[in-house]
Amino acid sequence: MLQFRKLEMKIKVISALLCILLIAASAAIVYRTGGTEFAFTHTMYIPIVLAGFLFGIKGSASAALAGGLALGPWMPMNVAEETMQTPGSWLIRTVFFLSMALVVGYLFHHIQKDHERELRKSYEHFATGYPNSNKLRLDLEQQIQKQKEITLTIFKIDNLSYINKYVDDSMEKRTVFKVLDILSEYFPKDQTYCITMNKFVTVGNRGIEDTYQKVEEFLHRFIEPIHIGDLPVDLFIKSGIVNYPLHSSDANDLMRKLSRTLDQDQDPSTETSISIYESTIAKQNREDYEIMLSLYEAIKNDEFKLVYQPKIRLKTNEVMGVEALLRWNSRTKGFVSPERFIGMAEYSGMIVEITKWVIRNTIEQLRDWKKEGMQIKTAVNISSKDLKDESIIEYTRELLEENDIDPGLLEFELTERTFLDNEVNAGKLLDEISELGLKISLDDFGTGYNSLINLVKLPVDYVKLDHFMISSINDRQNRPLVEGVIRTAHTLGKEIIAEGVETEEQVRLLNRMGCDNIQGYYFSKPLPPEKVCSFIRGFGQAGAVI
Ligand code: C2E
Ligand code: CA
Ligand code: CA
Repeated sequence: MLQFRKLEMKIKVISALLCILLIAASAAIVYRTGGTEFAFTHTMYIPIVLAGFLFGIKGSASAALAGGLALGPWMPMNVAEETMQTPGSWLIRTVFFLSMALVVGYLFHHIQKDHERELRKSYEHFATGYPNSNKLRLDLEQQIQKQKEITLTIFKIDNLSYINKYVDDSMEKRTVFKVLDILSEYFPKDQTYCITMNKFVTVGNRGIEDTYQKVEEFLHRFIEPIHIGDLPVDLFIKSGIVNYPLHSSDANDLMRKLSRTLDQDQDPSTETSISIYESTIAKQNREDYEIMLSLYEAIKNDEFKLVYQPKIRLKTNEVMGVEALLRWNSRTKGFVSPERFIGMAEYSGMIVEITKWVIRNTIEQLRDWKKEGMQIKTAVNISSKDLKDESIIEYTRELLEENDIDPGLLEFELTERTFLDNEVNAGKLLDEISELGLKISLDDFGTGYNSLINLVKLPVDYVKLDHFMISSINDRQNRPLVEGVIRTAHTLGKEIIAEGVETEEQVRLLNRMGCDNIQGYYFSKPLPPEKVCSFIRGFGQAGAVI
């Protein structure tokens, strides 16, 4: 503010000097062009009008007097003939200058007042007369320059529109004034801004904790209904707090974050609430970034391992195979679920490395089980990004050969997305996988693209019904859909695997519908490799499932 004043002063001094210079220049021109007898006396209007514009009536009148004197008793009427003016002539000119100065000054004065009124209006809330959001932005920008800490609080009367709707708008206005009145007991009126009819902002230089306490005291007043005239009105007020410099050092950003605090409280049943700005999104991004960084180290640091979830063939009541599922126990982040990191790995392109790791470890596991006399069909999950790089098929072939594993024991689980991804040449790819002798599953069927046409089109061995589809069979209405998928798959010579089966009832229903295989917690959670063989042996002897 002080700087602004100094600048304003400087401009004023320069303007005054300019007016003086113009008066002197005009006098010089009059003298050089032969005296007041000639037309150049009119050049004096320029500094008079300018002074009126810059300094109002007083300015133009002073310029008129100075100009009148400059062209006054000392200025010859005719320089060449050395004739002087009569006092009457320069006096009349001065009076003329003065009257013109008064008119010009008055006009400019009015224009300026109008302008100021307009400006004030653009900074005022139309209904309450409180400063509005334009003024808030302006004040905030200025305060950020000179204050160490600013805490902004927003208040929103959540149910004001109901008062307008069910009573009337004069009642709405009275309510707003009453709330503003109560607010002024806790936050100074000259630091309160009215953003809309039901949103107010206060600006203060207390810290967050102090402000929070004040807000709490203020909200406490609305536990009971307040009285507007005779009518008790129950108001629901939400509030939010942001702090400079903690949350941002930019006025616009602070205001944006301030209004976001109002969405933080998602519980519609709370009548009053206070939220301090939480940069959940920023936090989330930072965490994602950190996970991504740790992912780069995961293979090198040996942080991955595989677990295997059994799949049960209902007809024969035996384990028909297992699915390899990745687990990541990060040194820095702890356990991170695949649902979280697989997406990031796909995004960063690291998935190919990870899938190769999964394939290598699965094939090595098959070799170890083989040594124990177990041939266990194992499925691995392949992401659509993996198949852009055809080398993965060659890589698998070499590993199978190296470890002397029958390719029929390995299965690739692909989602519809992978098949339909434009960048992947699905036909060629499926041919290559089949040529190699691997089995193929259509994973997560029933989500996303989920069209029966795909089921017909895609040459897969198994169709895995997604667990959303399975959980829907609890509802009688959805059963025909699942039955339809099972029937179609069978007609096409494909087997069904139901995923995420958790209850006996689901197993019973799926069995009745003709489902071939079941995978889910009902039979087993994913198991560490050393437990797989004993599970399979034990399961075979456990007797009938249903
Ligand atoms: P998915 O391929 O559909 O795998 C099945 C998921 O369902 C697994 O979650 C499994 O633990 C879980 N599950 C199995 N039975 C039940 C059940 O009865 N109830 C419930 N609620 N869940 C059950 P997980 O291991 O957390 O894996 C999640 C997803 O992450 C997988 O879904 C798969 O898309 C992906 N994923 C896991 N491992 C790998 C991998 O090695 N490579 C790739 N590309 N993706 C993987
Ligand atoms: Ca899967
Ligand atoms: Ca699945």
